[in-house]
Amino acid sequence: MHKLKFFAWCWFLSGLVLGACSSSQDKSYMGDDGDGPKSTAQITQSAAQQAVIKEFCHKINREVFARYGWRDITCKEERWQYDLVTSGGNPLIYAAFLQPAGRHTTLYFCAVHGNEIPAAYMCVRLVRDMLFEHPEEYKDTNIVVAPFLNPDGLLRQKPTRTNGRGVDLNRNFPTKDWDEKAHKMWTEVYKKSKRWYPGDFGGSEIETKFQMDLIEKFRPSKIISVHTPYGFFDFDIALGAHHENFINIKDETENLAKEMGQRSSNFRVINYRYFPGSLGNYAGNELGIPTFTLELPGNDARQAKAYWQRFKKALIYLAHFDFTTKDDLAKNGVKQSDD
Ligand SMILES: [Zn+2]
Repeated sequence: MHKLKFFAWCWFLSGLVLGACSSSQDKSYMGDDGDGPKSTAQITQSAAQQAVIKEFCHKINREVFARYGWRDITCKEERWQYDLVTSGGNPLIYAAFLQPAGRHTTLYFCAVHGNEIPAAYMCVRLVRDMLFEHPEEYKDTNIVVAPFLNPDGLLRQKPTRTNGRGVDLNRNFPTKDWDEKAHKMWTEVYKKSKRWYPGDFGGSEIETKFQMDLIEKFRPSKIISVHTPYGFFDFDIALGAHHENFINIKDETENLAKEMGQRSSNFRVINYRYFPGSLGNYAGNELGIPTFTLELPGNDARQAKAYWQRFKKALIYLAHFDFTTKDDLAKNGVKQSDD
């Protein structure tokens, strides 16, 4: 039995490198060494794809995690998968932790702006918490995590907000107002600053398509995107046709944001405007998926662990929150009449 398991594990890792089945893991990273429960990620990757992720993870470990002193996390190739590659040749990795009892899915996005360094820590740290520290807290909910939405910007010697092609990915979603307003706003409000270039057309960037694909594929009941450094929770939600089955998703979204704020040492919660081409506009306003932004209160990489301590309860609470549906009320109604 034990042998069989070992064989399966080796088979799973086959195609990575010679020696993958020995214990030759990178010893320089502590506290996340694979002794916990295995990932429940649904992974279907070819040997060639696994090799790409392995190389990418090496780069992330060296050029991001080691550089910023984050020795409590590591990028482990067997946890991730990808379908798309950036213009700079980096895979857009994600992990889907889908549980048999999971009723709904929460999508976690991090570091869409490559220079918002501590944001990248939060997603990887969440996965560590889920796999190794508090797996029981996640067992009845589905989580999809995309930790590095803009690897080309993140991996530059001097990381950039924009992607490898100079586009602000949070202005690039093909929202209904993009054609009319994106370039107008870039010209008039941002004075054509390179930091906010929305792209040649809405949805022009592969990193934008990546986010859209994950939303389409996993149909999350809510999304959170982690940024820095403005210091607030924001939320976007509009009523869409597919909300017929929800009772009060707008108020519940607002209350959920407030609850997350309270669980983060009374962090500020606002309902900020959304922009042409932003995720909040695309997913929250147009698709009607409750979409949250966590703006961490600073951009100092050395504070990343402190940010995790402050915001982890909110991030976990979000994963569990279930919006009330008409079905729920019907069920409760039956229960009450049975009592
Ligand atoms: Zn940002």
